[in-house]
Amino acid sequence: MESMIKKYFPEMGIDIFWYSKKLTQNISSENNNLTSLDETIKKCKKCNLHKTRRNTVFGEGDPDSNIMIIGEAPGREEDEVGRPFVGRAGKLLNEFLKSINLNRDSVFIVNTIKCRPPENRDPEASEISACSDYLDQQINIIKPKVLVLLGKIAANRLLGEDMPMSELRLKKFFIDKYDIPIIVFYHPAYILRSPSQKKKVWDDLQYLKGIIDSNVS
Ligand code: SF4
Repeated sequence: MESMIKKYFPEMGIDIFWYSKKLTQNISSENNNLTSLDETIKKCKKCNLHKTRRNTVFGEGDPDSNIMIIGEAPGREEDEVGRPFVGRAGKLLNEFLKSINLNRDSVFIVNTIKCRPPENRDPEASEISACSDYLDQQINIIKPKVLVLLGKIAANRLLGEDMPMSELRLKKFFIDKYDIPIIVFYHPAYILRSPSQKKKVWDDLQYLKGIIDSNVS
C-alpha cells in the first residue's frame, strides 16, 4: 500500500508529501463515548503529570464536527479552568478560525496530552506516550474529516517524525491509522512570541481553508 501511494500519487499530481504506517496500532475500545472517556481521564494517573495538575483538560467543541484541532499541552490558564485554549493563544486561535468562517463551536479542540506540564515545559516523550491512547480514542469517537495540528509537538506525535515547521506547513499528510488529511499549522502561542511570523499565517489559513472546503461538505 505504502509503496503504491509513493509511486502513483506523485504521478497523479496529488500532494501527499509523506505517508507513514509507523503509528498503526489497535485503538482501545474501552471508552466508546466522550463522556465516559472524560471520566476516565479525570481519574488518570498514568504519568507523573497527575501529581501537579489542578484539572485535566479533555477538550471541547462540537462532538459531531468534521474538523478536529490538536494543540500540544494545557497551560496555566487551561489547567485552572479545565478547558483548552482559553488564554491569549486561545483568543488568537479564535481569530484564526473566524477569518476562515469557523468558530470554536463548529470544531472540536483538544491537546496532545491532557494535564499541564509544570512551568509549561514541553511534555516529555514518556508523558506523550502515556497519554496517546486518549487522543486516539477522541479521534476515533469524533471521526473528523480533517485534522489540524498546532505546532511541532502535536505534529511529531501524530506524524511520528521530528521535522521543522518549514517542512510541515502548507502540506497535506496522511497516516494509515486515520486516512484523513492532516494539516500542520503554527501554534498560536508561537505566533504571539514571534510576531514577525504573522505574515505567514495568512498563507497557512488560506491553505487550510482550501483543504477544509474540499474535504468537509
Ligand atoms: S497527561 Fe495523560 S497520561 Fe498523564 S496523567 Fe494526565 S491524562 Fe493521564
